[in-house]
Amino acid sequence: MNLNFSYYMPTRILFGCGKLNELGTTPYLPGKKALVVIGASGAMKKLGYLDRVIKLLKDNGAESVVYDKIQPNPVCEHVEEGAAVAKENGCDFVLGLGGGSTLDSSKSIAVMAVNPGQYWDYIARGSGGRKTPPNGALPIVAITTTAGTGTEADPWTVITKSDTNEKIGWGNNFTFPRLSIVDPELMVSVPPKTTAYTGMDAFFHSVETYLATINQPASDHLALEAVSLITKYLPIAVKDGTNMEARTKLAWANTEAGMCESLSCCISHHSMEHAISAYYPDVAHGSGLTMLSVSYFSYLAERNPARFPDLARAMGEKAEGLPEKKQAMAFITGLKKLIKKIGLKEEKLADYNIKKEDLRTFAENSFYAMGSLFDITPVKLTLDDVVTIYEKAYTD
Ligand SMILES: [Zn+2]
Repeated sequence: MNLNFSYYMPTRILFGCGKLNELGTTPYLPGKKALVVIGASGAMKKLGYLDRVIKLLKDNGAESVVYDKIQPNPVCEHVEEGAAVAKENGCDFVLGLGGGSTLDSSKSIAVMAVNPGQYWDYIARGSGGRKTPPNGALPIVAITTTAGTGTEADPWTVITKSDTNEKIGWGNNFTFPRLSIVDPELMVSVPPKTTAYTGMDAFFHSVETYLATINQPASDHLALEAVSLITKYLPIAVKDGTNMEARTKLAWANTEAGMCESLSCCISHHSMEHAISAYYPDVAHGSGLTMLSVSYFSYLAERNPARFPDLARAMGEKAEGLPEKKQAMAFITGLKKLIKKIGLKEEKLADYNIKKEDLRTFAENSFYAMGSLFDITPVKLTLDDVVTIYEKAYTD
């Protein structure tokens, strides 16, 4: 147990079925005019969620302006355009309605709505300018419609700079949402494949924050519970998206995994995935993570088995009485079973036209763009180690 840590989790979270309605009455709305940010797919309009949110904001005395261009693997251009819309219309807070891409974009838009220059000036890695935004950010409200990134409970926002193939996570105390609403009823419409991808993203947030060398007791508790809940309920929700018990348990697992990302941090598995989807934006984040995972975590478990037995037990795998290395590998057995149960076993990197020659480029990019996560990974990985992990994922 690591009893040397910093704990900061300032987001007010309204959690539960039907909680969206409280947007109309909550005293914690942080402004009078919202920039409502949604995805370009049109889903929020089709499902009626956008109209509902605008009406609830109105009931609570707030006007709305809509920005609707966010795409999966969101890009800088839309952050800057959204921020310009917020400025032109005098918005005093930003409300993100949707999945991780939309909520992350809302955070970045909130920063750029009150700060000068370009978004990449403030990014702390890769080709980013490493400046500190002088003016903080507009207050952020996050309403999540998927159980995936946990971004409603953390300060992180992941945006891609397409011309340089950099997909970089960033955040500060101002990019924690002021208010988040997690209403599992909004997640019923998520299709099976997206349910599987987003669920695995939350799963790996829990696993990685548990393994990170900067783990702390509060995130340990949350991470192990999230691993258990996702192992049990993700296969159920993939099979039957209308099962409200499964949706609710997964929504909570996702939110607690987000808290883990605030208190501990993801490790280099995420750096390695970001490199893939920076070059191949058609690869969903959760899919990329899953395709890498058996190779990546086997490599770690063989070299530093500590903490893996706890994860194996959280997945319901029998680890008792075995030597430590075998207990650690029981987690890999559990991981393989879960991937199979949710129908992602057949997905391979080659299906996305990724070439073997790309793998070294990915390895270099993962250090360049997201190198700091290697510093908190419990096994020291060299560039060649990372290439080996990609190759194993590619060929197995
Ligand atoms: Zn993630």
